[in-house]
Amino acid sequence: MSTFDPAILLDPPPFPVERVASLADRFAKLIGTSGDVLLIQAEAVVALEAVAASLGRPGVKAINIITSPYGVWFGRWLRRAGASVVEIRAEAARPVSARAVAAALDAHPDAGLLALVHAESASGIRNPLEAILRLARERAVVTVVDAVASLGGHAFAADRMGADVVVAGPQKALAGPAGVSAVAVSQRAWADIDRTDAPQTSALSLVDQKRLWLDAGRGALPGTPSPLELWALDAALDRVEAEGIEAIVGRHAEAAAAARDGLEALGLTAWAGPADASHLVTAFAPPADIDAASLLESLREADPEFSLGVGAGADRLIRLNHTGRRADPQVVHAMISAIASALRR
Ligand SMILES: *Cc1c(COP(=O)(O)O)cnc(C)c1O
Repeated sequence: MSTFDPAILLDPPPFPVERVASLADRFAKLIGTSGDVLLIQAEAVVALEAVAASLGRPGVKAINIITSPYGVWFGRWLRRAGASVVEIRAEAARPVSARAVAAALDAHPDAGLLALVHAESASGIRNPLEAILRLARERAVVTVVDAVASLGGHAFAADRMGADVVVAGPQKALAGPAGVSAVAVSQRAWADIDRTDAPQTSALSLVDQKRLWLDAGRGALPGTPSPLELWALDAALDRVEAEGIEAIVGRHAEAAAAARDGLEALGLTAWAGPADASHLVTAFAPPADIDAASLLESLREADPEFSLGVGAGADRLIRLNHTGRRADPQVVHAMISAIASALRR
């Protein structure tokens, strides 16, 4: 089936040092920031851990919104760094409400940090990001946004929305490699990160990235550069720019709408309503009279990308993946047809 030959990956030329900074600039454009963007040679979860390790410290109180396991992990990393963490847990696999966030901010006027995921691939929900960022801004709280899944799936503009730290990766809606991540850092956030007691000589240190890369003229990345990943990121960004980020977001929105309509035509209901759905995946609860495990099994025979949601409450939902190259009407149509024939059996 596949004609992929891994041997073509051997002996790549080095990625030109003078082009590394432009990768960050191109990411900055997609994120919508005129601030600094760091490139981390690791998948996005490591970048998220680095943000928590670099912003958390004793004396910092953080409001951490949990709508999937990513939020659970972020809270753990903040605590490990010494921060005190106030958790806001939305109803299982549901978005948080801006009202709950406002209440937590009011109850903890000493909070200096707020973290959340924008759109979840785990459950197919989307949090009311702009309203939450506005609330944080009004109180001068530094914000961290996990936009790994949402960038390319939803309109995003960090500076305009007031997001201070944004973590992004090319491997979801941007359909790129998973081994280089981007972290946007606002001036306000640098003031909290660049401290004398900040972690250093650590793979999780953003201060190291600042000293060794930003302040050093943005040449080669710290450590041994991975030409394979940098070339792949370069090619992925070429493809993103050729299509245009608005068109990519539009393609994901259409795929999500087609998935919702298709489920409805089968008498099923998408888990998230149109106002709070992520455009990356569409989840549905299997009908009560059907064995979910065997339904999933027959769906996976048609398309191995069918999966259960991840995290409390989402783990009984079946997900249709329409992220990246799969944000395509034909892929969605095939998934709906697979569900129709599995339900008939
Ligand atoms: C995929 C994803 C990540 C990153 O996970 P990886 O293991 O690096 O792919 C982080 N946050 C969210 C919300 C994600 O969907």
